[in-house]
Amino acid sequence: MNYNQFFQKAIEQLHIEKRYRIFADLERIPGDLPRAIFRNGTIKKAVTVWCSNDYLCMGQNIHVIQALSKIAHKNGAGAGGTRNISGSNHHLIELETELAELHRKEASLVFTSGFVANEASISAIARLLPDCLILSDELNHASIIEGIRHSGAEKNIFFHNNLAHLEECLKKAHPKRAKLIIFESVYSMNGDIAPIKAIADLAEKYNAMTYIDEVHAVGIYGMNGGGITDRDHLSQRIDIIQGTLSKAYGALGGYIVGSRNIIDAVRCYAPQFIFTTALPPAIAAAATTAIRYLKTSQKERILLQKQVQMTKKILLNAGVPLMPSTTHIIPILISDPDICKKATDYLLTKHNIYIQPINYPTVPRGQERLRITPTPFHNDHLIELLKDALIETWNTLGIQLRGEES
Ligand SMILES: *Cc1c(COP(=O)(O)O)cnc(C)c1O
Repeated sequence: MNYNQFFQKAIEQLHIEKRYRIFADLERIPGDLPRAIFRNGTIKKAVTVWCSNDYLCMGQNIHVIQALSKIAHKNGAGAGGTRNISGSNHHLIELETELAELHRKEASLVFTSGFVANEASISAIARLLPDCLILSDELNHASIIEGIRHSGAEKNIFFHNNLAHLEECLKKAHPKRAKLIIFESVYSMNGDIAPIKAIADLAEKYNAMTYIDEVHAVGIYGMNGGGITDRDHLSQRIDIIQGTLSKAYGALGGYIVGSRNIIDAVRCYAPQFIFTTALPPAIAAAATTAIRYLKTSQKERILLQKQVQMTKKILLNAGVPLMPSTTHIIPILISDPDICKKATDYLLTKHNIYIQPINYPTVPRGQERLRITPTPFHNDHLIELLKDALIETWNTLGIQLRGEES
């Protein structure tokens, strides 16, 4: 077998399907977000980023940057070991205390990413429970799917946010059987929100455990930034809340919070937690600073929602076909990977606007989309420029706008 040729063929297949991934070379400058420097060969120019997950621009928050550099100088660069072998640094432990408090839970555990948090926790929990049945929303993130896969547990996929279907699955399982419902609060590719209270009610009725991914909500929703469960006072009705420090908190890392026993079990049983180096103190301190800042400061959250409403309104008025979204995430359905890619290439070359195309397998085939994420720093002028650029792009590429169909 010619191994190299084999991989070349695998790559060619992606080109044929128009989903070969190209990463943009970006340099973000604190104080200048959402603008960034874009490089491609000899080209170097400023672009406006409309697809960042640094939803509140906390990555440029002066307190966060100061904490990062101060603790790096004080405690050095790396953690120096796994959690078990010398790596459990003081700032990381402080971060875990902060997270448990944020969500009003007994304990928390920090991982190197939100992806690892899901994969490690779900696989450990579902493996420990005897003959566990997992009930998983069909739009759950890849990290959740990996966790389920690695647990080896049986799974039922329920239709997205569909309570009747979830109940049907719960009803079919033996009443004594261990059950784990896994879902997200804000779905990152649609921008919709799960019926958390109703799912918690069903969990109670059928004695199931609940696990929620709040990655796209922490920092942004709730008076403390504790996510949708914080906003709707539901955190006590969910067993495990998972979140990230890498999106609205602008740093890096992921976590779970829950009862002392559950957290302790994951801590002692999950290899993805045990056999990897701990988060460095400087990053932990940066994350703690961001969490504390957003516990009291409401202005970023308020301004984010204001600019999101403004963006939605201006784009809808211009006839841009937005998918229905009740959150800060604004998807535009294109339904074709080639057009999706062409539109984003054109926006970048002609209008200096960077929006990454979202293709399979991030979304199902035929549901390719642009995913726009405003921040508090996308001012009214930038929104106008986006609208004009989208219209010009649509016209040039012959993409139909809503209201134009004959
Ligand atoms: C991004 C994402 C994750 C992973 O979080 P990272 O900290 O980026 O690894 C988990 N769940 C969902 C829904 C996500 O969108």
